Amino acid sequence: MSTSGMQMWKSEQQRIQHIAKDFLKLEPELIEELIQCKTEFGFFVRLTRDNGNVEHLKGWRVQHCNPYDTGRKPYKGGFMRALTVELDMLRTKAALMTWKCAVVGPTDEERVQFGGAKGGLQCDPLQYSEAESKRQMEGVADEIDPIVGPTWDSLGPDAAVGPKEIRAFVTRYSRLNKDKGIPCGAVATGKPLEHGGGGCPGRHKAPGLGMQFVQEEFKKIHPFFKNIPPTPRAIVQGFGQVGSAYAHLAKQFGVTIIGVSDIYGGIYNPRGIDVDKLFALSQKTGRVSSYPDADPVSGDEFFKQESDILVLAATENVLTKKNASSVKARVIIEGANAPTTPEADIILKNNNQLVIPDILANAGGVTVSYFEWCQDIQGKFWLETEIRNELQRYMIGGTQRTFQIAQKFGVDLRTGAGLSAIMYCAPALRQKHGFKKSAKSLV
Ligand code: NAD
Repeated sequence: MSTSGMQMWKSEQQRIQHIAKDFLKLEPELIEELIQCKTEFGFFVRLTRDNGNVEHLKGWRVQHCNPYDTGRKPYKGGFMRALTVELDMLRTKAALMTWKCAVVGPTDEERVQFGGAKGGLQCDPLQYSEAESKRQMEGVADEIDPIVGPTWDSLGPDAAVGPKEIRAFVTRYSRLNKDKGIPCGAVATGKPLEHGGGGCPGRHKAPGLGMQFVQEEFKKIHPFFKNIPPTPRAIVQGFGQVGSAYAHLAKQFGVTIIGVSDIYGGIYNPRGIDVDKLFALSQKTGRVSSYPDADPVSGDEFFKQESDILVLAATENVLTKKNASSVKARVIIEGANAPTTPEADIILKNNNQLVIPDILANAGGVTVSYFEWCQDIQGKFWLETEIRNELQRYMIGGTQRTFQIAQKFGVDLRTGAGLSAIMYCAPALRQKHGFKKSAKSLV
């Protein structure tokens, strides 16, 4: 277990404890439910490489907490492939999923009623061919079959797991469970749309579109945005599923993209970047630095570039106490999960920079996953316009509620979003487990 993973989980548990105990005065038995993970399932995938060599890859699926009736509403969470995958990191991200689902929704009844989960395979995805990636995901289905299912735990896309990998997983799961008479497709969302893949239109751009809706709403309601130009300039760290979707949609929302980076380095042009051209080139070469009309910027220098908005859409723990003070942007939007360490968060706050936290900012992904799950369960296809309109309602509802709660308690948006989620989950959990409410409890 890495120190940073352990530290991440410890910090997240302390944060939940702080909100649940100090702000909401919840009962100890309820707090215990919120700060532990229900299921932690470890496994090995045996992978035969294209050259015939055999490898064993370590993986986990973690289910944090499901305040609703499991079996009716599943746990939900991405499955990722990265060298940094380990148990504590997945525990942290599974908990963030519980909060994320409970944060969004136009009304209380319409919040996304899923428990939080996360899974991953510890490997460097860049080292594997498409065929090997497919076999990895088939192996994952073989191993986690006993603990997942359409109404028990449904996977979603995440770092280095896109529609192709999800399709491989669902196909294998469906074969394993073909006799059970259940709608197997709902065991994962983020399926491809084309060739009868079972996906829903717009899932691939959902986290990016959700981020744009959140940003748009804060521009209207948050006084901080009075000091941000109405047509802001943004730099985006990470140009994968989340970062490229945000960048692609930027123009529609009056945002100019002036810098982009990926794992190999970055580019910057204060006059703007042609995102379509960048996307086409980076698809071909595998890196954003192949874009010719911008200056190259190293990964370390990226945050120092002038901009109004910094979008973090790469990976966890990228803003730390070492580099947070170099961030020039006034607004930081967390497209990635847990990209800012607690120390970095304090530095940004002290420098009067606004952080729009992951559990609100990138919740568009799980929201459209919820629509895809409903589509599978109902056997009814949703149109792209329906999905876009619904996503907008869910993200605006979540943004307004987070802002109001943050104002009411006099806290930052991360704590406001956490409060909003726990205020919703705690009474549901109390009901589910038959706990007695203490007189002191605020919810
Ligand atoms: P991805 O694998 O599609 O893309 C990741 C991008 O980040 C790539 O461009 C990669 O080169 C870059 N990158 C990785 N490490 C980097 C580093 N240290 N510095 C700079 N760039 C780096 O992954 P994704 O699906 O876009 O996910 C990105 C983040 O967003 C993850 O934290 C993920 O958990 C989160 N997220 C994903 C979804 C989803 O639906 N895919 C939804 C919500 C949140």
